[in-house]
Formats: sequence, C-alpha cells, structure tokens
Amino acid sequence: MTKVAIDHHDRLGAVEIVTVDSPKAGVLRRRAKPVGRVTADMQRLIDRMINAMREAKGVGLAAPQVGVSKRVFVAEVEERVHVFIDPQIVKKDGEEISSEGCLSVPGIVADVPRALQVTVKGKNRKGRGITIAAEGLLARVIQHEVDHLDGVLFLDRVVDRSTIREVTASTEVEAATPPA
Ligand SMILES: [Zn+2]
Repeated sequence: MTKVAIDHHDRLGAVEIVTVDSPKAGVLRRRAKPVGRVTADMQRLIDRMINAMREAKGVGLAAPQVGVSKRVFVAEVEERVHVFIDPQIVKKDGEEISSEGCLSVPGIVADVPRALQVTVKGKNRKGRGITIAAEGLLARVIQHEVDHLDGVLFLDRVVDRSTIREVTASTEVEAATPPA
C-alpha cells in the first residue's frame, strides 16, 4: 500500500491508494455505487483524489482506488483536470493498443487494446450533466477508470500476456502511458 502525503500543511490529510496486495483490495473488485446528488462530502473527496493523483504522478484515479466504492473518477491529461461522476461510455470507435499501468498495480505495465475514441456522459463536479468526446490518451484513461468503477483491472483487458512486464517505480511514471 502506498501512503501518499497530499498536502504539506496536512489540511486534507493523507490518502491511501489501495493496491492489489492490500488488505482492502476487495474494493477494487466491487461494482461501485452511483453517486446521485453531489454533496459537499463528494466535493471534498474529489479534491483529495485530484491531489492524490498528482502526488502519485498518475493521469487518472477512481474512487475505489482510495477505498470509496462510488462511481466517480478524476483524470488529468494535457494539464486539464476532468471530473466524471456517474459516467457512462455511450459510444466507442476504433482501436489502439498501447502500454498502460495502474496506481493500484504498482511496478507492472502491459499492452492493452482500447477504443481510440469514446463519448462519455455523466456529471461534472458541480453535478451538471456533461457529454465529452475524447480520443487518444484521455479516451484510454476514461476507459481504464470506468473499468475501475465496474471492478475491472487493466490486466483483465490484456490480450497478449507476453507484453506484461515489470518496471521500476521511476520507469513506471515515465512509461508511454502513465499509471491511472
Ligand atoms: Zn488504475
């Protein structure tokens, strides 16, 4: 389990990222529950998740990865932060195989086929309905994070098992696709 200090002043406390070898790993295999109305508690959770994602140098983080079985995830791609609440992928196009890692599966990367473009519907952090069309890395992160909400890990999506490889912590962050 990786303990991530997310704020030097410790105002928000530390967030623990749940990994597959953690005693809490069961949460990673559970189907997360819809959020529904976006409360102040949910806003605080989202802030903690954004901080934890940045601290861990990831490009995405889903609530089950911090031990909360709710359908919400954050992503940061090309310096833009995205928050998706109760997301649903409504359209997928194309396919691309690329290297992927996961903050909950540290030290492992593998080639994962994903749709090249996705359209996702959900709510933003203000609870407003959003529809986003994404491609490339953001599309990959969205698919990886929605999988987390369904209890699916990236290793489940690997087709060519020979591409599963170990990396050192520093290599992981610099991998073609940073961990999510
Ligand atoms: Zn992940």
